Amino acid sequence: MAQKTVVFPLNLNEQQKEILIQTIKLFSQAYNACLDYAWSMDHPVKKELHEKTYYFLKELLGLKSQYLCVARDTACETVLSVRARLRKGKKASKPQSGLVPIRLDKNTLSFDKTRETASITTQGKRIKVPLLWHKHAKRFEQWHCQSGRIGFDSRGRLVLWLTFVKEVEKPERTGRVIGIDRGIKHAFVTSDNKFYEEGESKNKERLYYLLISRLQSAGTKSAKRHLKWLSGRVRRFKVNCDHRLVKMLFATLNPGDTLVLEKLTGIRDSCGTKGKARKKHRKYLNRWSFKRLADIITSFAELLGVYVEYVDPQYTSQQCPQCGIVKKSNRKNQSTYRCSCGLELNADLNAARNISRRWCMANGYASGHQSIGLL
Ligand SMILES: [Zn+2]
Repeated sequence: MAQKTVVFPLNLNEQQKEILIQTIKLFSQAYNACLDYAWSMDHPVKKELHEKTYYFLKELLGLKSQYLCVARDTACETVLSVRARLRKGKKASKPQSGLVPIRLDKNTLSFDKTRETASITTQGKRIKVPLLWHKHAKRFEQWHCQSGRIGFDSRGRLVLWLTFVKEVEKPERTGRVIGIDRGIKHAFVTSDNKFYEEGESKNKERLYYLLISRLQSAGTKSAKRHLKWLSGRVRRFKVNCDHRLVKMLFATLNPGDTLVLEKLTGIRDSCGTKGKARKKHRKYLNRWSFKRLADIITSFAELLGVYVEYVDPQYTSQQCPQCGIVKKSNRKNQSTYRCSCGLELNADLNAARNISRRWCMANGYASGHQSIGLL
């Protein structure tokens, strides 16, 4: 099942705006009250939370029943996910929210036949809002949509998020398996000998980080404001870079091909403990996000019918794909891998090949491109 969330700007008249904001405010109050309650429970369960909050909040706020239930469920899920983070030893604290977007479902969100307007439940009458099918949204016009959210985005504008889903049939596997390794020098390398470079954007990124470090050391109020503005820009810039490269990667793939990625979790944690010597390295690692790349790859793969698989990342950069030996000293430097069996190739490429080979061996596939050329 492929899924995409698209943002639609809202063009409301004063009356609609007023009733919607009122609904969002009431919803947020209900959400925060449920959150407080769920937080005080050892194991929050929706049913129990319902008994404790529903009638009380109904009386107090007068919020529509459908939304009371949504507020309760959202609050319960939030607390559960924060607890899960805490259990894993990650940083998390009790969430606090001002105005929370309202989650919409098939009871509270509907469309007219041509999907020119969306009809949304509010405290008063349902409001009918015109949908602006912008260029990005048009791609999902034919997809199924039964859920979304409505509320203020991070820039304080009222928007509607719609979640589109589509059943994508997975084609038969073609047997072509490609491993990907995300490098520091290259954006990523695939086991079929392709290097995806950040190129020009690397310089731009460097400038961004220079600016950030200067602002950080300035530490003034206006510097902090500037930093906040900049952080959003940098994030979007990097998503764009990854997007562009992943698009190039998928141009070389066919439905049914398999991509293999390293299962990387907690890489920042493991690199943060190794002292000063790794400070420079750590700086780079923190900058790149494997998760971001993996997310983009997954969403492309769903649309194209490409399989995404994961393997254990241990020693992928130290193992020799020809004789199988694992030797740390074989990785001579950032860019070279050399084994006593005679194999010598780019170190990132070596890792990418190990990644695909590992998956192929575990799943009974012949790994085609392993007849190694010396690169
Ligand atoms: Zn070897």
